[in-house]
Amino acid sequence: MRMTVPVLMAGLVACATGSVDDPVDSDTDTLHVRFAFPIDAPELINGVMGVDHDALEGEGLIGRMACTNYDGRGFPACYDGHDGSDFLLDGGFDTMDAGSPTVLAAAAGVVITAHDGEYDRCHATLSGEIDCNGGPIRANYVEIAHEGGAVTRYLHLMKDSVAVQEGQTVAQGTPLGRIGSSGNSSVPHLHFELQVGEGVVVDPYAGPYSQPESWWCDQGAPHELPGPCP
Ligand SMILES: [Zn+2]
Repeated sequence: MRMTVPVLMAGLVACATGSVDDPVDSDTDTLHVRFAFPIDAPELINGVMGVDHDALEGEGLIGRMACTNYDGRGFPACYDGHDGSDFLLDGGFDTMDAGSPTVLAAAAGVVITAHDGEYDRCHATLSGEIDCNGGPIRANYVEIAHEGGAVTRYLHLMKDSVAVQEGQTVAQGTPLGRIGSSGNSSVPHLHFELQVGEGVVVDPYAGPYSQPESWWCDQGAPHELPGPCP
C-alpha cells in the first residue's frame, strides 16, 4: 500500500466521531457477527489507520501520533484516541471527483441512522484544524444495528450519496453511500466503527493488543485489507 506524506500528515487529523473516547478490549456477550470489507473498490484504498489501544493521551501534532494498533504498530497504523478504522482513498479528492468507491454494509442488519446533506469537502488547514469551507463540521453517515446488538457506523460520506433510509433492512454488501470527506475529516476516507452494548467501541481486528477473535470474515495479513465473506 502506498502512503504519501500529505496523506500521512492529513491522517493526523483524519477524523474523530467524538462519541466514545476510550476504546476497550471487549469480549462482551454481544453476538459476534462477521464483516465483509465495506468498500467496493479495495484497490483504491491505500492506507488504514486503526483503533488506538493504548491509554496514553497525547498533546499536539506529535501527541496525535502516539498510539498502538491491534498488532502493536504505532502511527501511521493508528493515531491517538482513534475509535475506528480509517480506510484512506488513494488520490484523495481527485479520486472522489472521478467516481468515489461505494461503501457497503459490512453485515446484514437494520439502518438506525441515515444522515445526508452535509458539505463533503472538509479538509485540514496548515495548522491542523478541520475546515468545512467555513460551514458546520457535520458528517454524512449511516449506522446499522446487527443481530445480537452490535452497531456499525460509516462516516464522512459524500453529500447526496446516502442510499438507504432509517428502518430499512440491508443485506451484507448493500450500498450505503460513497466515500467522501464530510464532517471531522481531513481527506476522503471511510471511518468504519464497531460498537457493542452501550456505545462501547470494539476494534474489529483481532490481535495481541485487541481481542482474540476477529469480527472480519477474512482479516488479512497486517499490511493487507480485510477480504469478503465466503
Ligand atoms: Zn476515523
